[in-house]
Amino acid sequence: MDRVVPPRPDVARLVPYDVPPPTVPVVLATNESPYNLPPPVLARVHELVDALAFNRYPDPTARALREAIGARYGLGADHVIVGNGGDEILLDLLLAWGGPGRSCLSFPPGFAMYGICCDVTGTGYVEIERDTETFAVPIEAAVEMLQGGAARQAVAGSSDERGGEGAPVIVIACSPNNPTGTLTPRADIERLLAATDAVVLVDEAYAEFSGETVTDLIDEHANLIVLRTFSKAFSLAGLRVGYALGRPETLAPLYKVKMPYNEDAFAQAVALACLENAQLFEARWAETRAERERLAEALSAKPGTTVLPSAANYLCARVEGVGDLAGLLLDGGVLVRDVGGGRHLRGYVRVTVGSPAENDAVIAAWPGRGEDE
Ligand code: PMP
Repeated sequence: MDRVVPPRPDVARLVPYDVPPPTVPVVLATNESPYNLPPPVLARVHELVDALAFNRYPDPTARALREAIGARYGLGADHVIVGNGGDEILLDLLLAWGGPGRSCLSFPPGFAMYGICCDVTGTGYVEIERDTETFAVPIEAAVEMLQGGAARQAVAGSSDERGGEGAPVIVIACSPNNPTGTLTPRADIERLLAATDAVVLVDEAYAEFSGETVTDLIDEHANLIVLRTFSKAFSLAGLRVGYALGRPETLAPLYKVKMPYNEDAFAQAVALACLENAQLFEARWAETRAERERLAEALSAKPGTTVLPSAANYLCARVEGVGDLAGLLLDGGVLVRDVGGGRHLRGYVRVTVGSPAENDAVIAAWPGRGEDE
């Protein structure tokens, strides 16, 4: 055959994810940890390589790892599901609850994977924009939409290009929000949880850097799922380990749609070794928080620079009158994420907080001289 049938039209419209390997010394574009695993954990990884039965399938539900994760939150292993990165759990969530005729509500500017997972699963994607100054979740409009059911189409500010039918069955609130760094007040999350029986996914991928969590609300709310990842706080972006917390009966549909051996045995074992040495990572989070404040202060002192308040391991910032800030920083040897392409954050870049030396490189490459220079 010299041809192949096209895929579903909604898949044909998608763009494959790919990024070229970085070519500059300072890479602060994907919110990774600036540091590899701590030496004691790396030593343990070497032991694990020798001991692992590579010929055997992994534990399909990662029992030992789930138990260790649950213990960090005072929850049982049955309150945890492990995924091949948080991204996989997002997709599983949309597979289980989404689909044609259903919709998911989120609050842009936000994480691109929400829309992508909706597209892949044929789920309608409904957006209500965050406040254009504070980037807070538009809580009144969200509650109105969730309580108004099908009347949501009339809600001001909602963009319905990919909207599904009826009230959303999933609401995603990212806190701290990627890319703005905005924390959603706990009271607002509680209002969402009370306003609807839709699944409220609170994406806490960066919560270790804010110190705030709503995981303790799981007991109270059957519709709460909290998403977490090892990629950032535990220096494990290369192995793909994420997890979600929720009541066992709430998580049950995710277990039905997930691939049987979604988390490989090596990643399970290494993630467990990370948790056994959690204190080594916690010291790093304190450094990242302190460096975030130092970097924010230094950049804010540069003329024309606006830095959004951030509770995460990145800063979202712009310089008045500079159109291609990311390009300018790249010329200075620093790779950041250009988030200014959409309509929400014109001119902004997202800079991951790196090591002190990397942050110094950002400050040096940033346009304009600081007040004390
Ligand atoms: N949520 C948010 C907000 C993120 O930024 C990311 C990573 N970029 C994820 C979830 C998923 O992370 P991972 O798949 O690496 O666990």
